[in-house]
Amino acid sequence: MEYENVERADRAVAEAIRSEARLQDESLMMIASENVASPAVREAQGSILTNRNALGYPDSRLYPGSENIDEVEALAIAYSKELWGADHVNVQPHSGSLANLAVYLAVLDPGDRLLALHPRDGGHITHGSDLHLSGDLYETHHYELDPETGRLDYEAIARRAEEVDPDMIISGYSAYPRTIDWERFQEIAASVDAYHLADIAHLSGLIATGVFPSPVGVAEFCTGSTYKTIKTGRGGIILCDEEYGEAVDEALFPRLQGGAAMPNIAGKAAGLAEALDDEFDDYVDRTVADAEALADALAERGVDVVTGGTDTHIVLVDLRGSHSDLPGSEAERALEAAGIVANKASVPGDPRYPSDASGIRFGTTSLAARGFEGAAMDAVADLIVRALDSAGDEGALEELSAEVATLCE
Ligand SMILES: *Cc1c(COP(=O)(O)O)cnc(C)c1O
Repeated sequence: MEYENVERADRAVAEAIRSEARLQDESLMMIASENVASPAVREAQGSILTNRNALGYPDSRLYPGSENIDEVEALAIAYSKELWGADHVNVQPHSGSLANLAVYLAVLDPGDRLLALHPRDGGHITHGSDLHLSGDLYETHHYELDPETGRLDYEAIARRAEEVDPDMIISGYSAYPRTIDWERFQEIAASVDAYHLADIAHLSGLIATGVFPSPVGVAEFCTGSTYKTIKTGRGGIILCDEEYGEAVDEALFPRLQGGAAMPNIAGKAAGLAEALDDEFDDYVDRTVADAEALADALAERGVDVVTGGTDTHIVLVDLRGSHSDLPGSEAERALEAAGIVANKASVPGDPRYPSDASGIRFGTTSLAARGFEGAAMDAVADLIVRALDSAGDEGALEELSAEVATLCE
């Protein structure tokens, strides 16, 4: 039995973890910001490195006895440089959110202007939302997606930049399924003398293998989470031009964070080493192929797929017009009851509040990690559509959840 030591400490905690393991085994886990960590990542992240308090950076720690943890962090940095070709890397952010804050603190002053995608269109809360500290510290302005095509409109963004005269332009999103022209963003940022932050939280794995274009070396700053498409230990990462390295490092520690989370950094190092292997290229190819197959299979069944498809691991569905105009919140509940875990999401031009939303965001990272491909994605689309059609019918949804469990097995 797994988790025996936890069980000895506390039975309720062990039971909750075991229930979670069952949920993950028997469900279609399709939250686009999640993945399945490898045994190597879990082993490193669960290691005795948690016993150390790593204040500072490799070769400049505040405490002695640091040669091993220095080595682990140096390896994580070296593998990141190899994967993404960055000049300077900081692997200490406890999350992607803190990676973004560190970049802001490094080069912006309070009251400076951000230009970011509207949260309704897939922008992230840390891009100056009034729910987030960045919204208190900086004056945020938004650009929007073209509500007709659901795509970035670079002409309109260039005009917004002229109007707003921002200090930083942010590209990179949470629910945008299509490719991004990083060079065009850089041109726009340069034309108004603004920094460019490319937030690749969702895209870093796809960028690492080359299936998605890279903003590294184009934008001054790239930030990300390390556990989404890239599938390493939990936390964040900052990649930047050498000239900003010192400012970024100081902003993160000691201004924003304390000691580095060494087990997470070991998980990052192990996962990054795995990502350098050819097997990871196959995994990423499968992830994107699965998303393309899912988008096609849903469209064939009359579901409105935003932009008509995907270039990534994300399939964004607009429920307006199909499936009795079910709000995203109700669709999310129906899917969950059927064993399909995916979150409601706003769609471009969404008239509903985000708490209801008009869409659902599906991701294929976890399914691809579990080996789903080909015909299995057709079966997944079929189960999704039947679950949406069965919203409110608890009996039917329960039967579907048994079919889902069988498919997973
Ligand atoms: C997930 C995400 C982040 C960071 O999220 P954390 O939960 O803090 O790791 C930042 N930006 C975008 C666009 C994201 O999707």
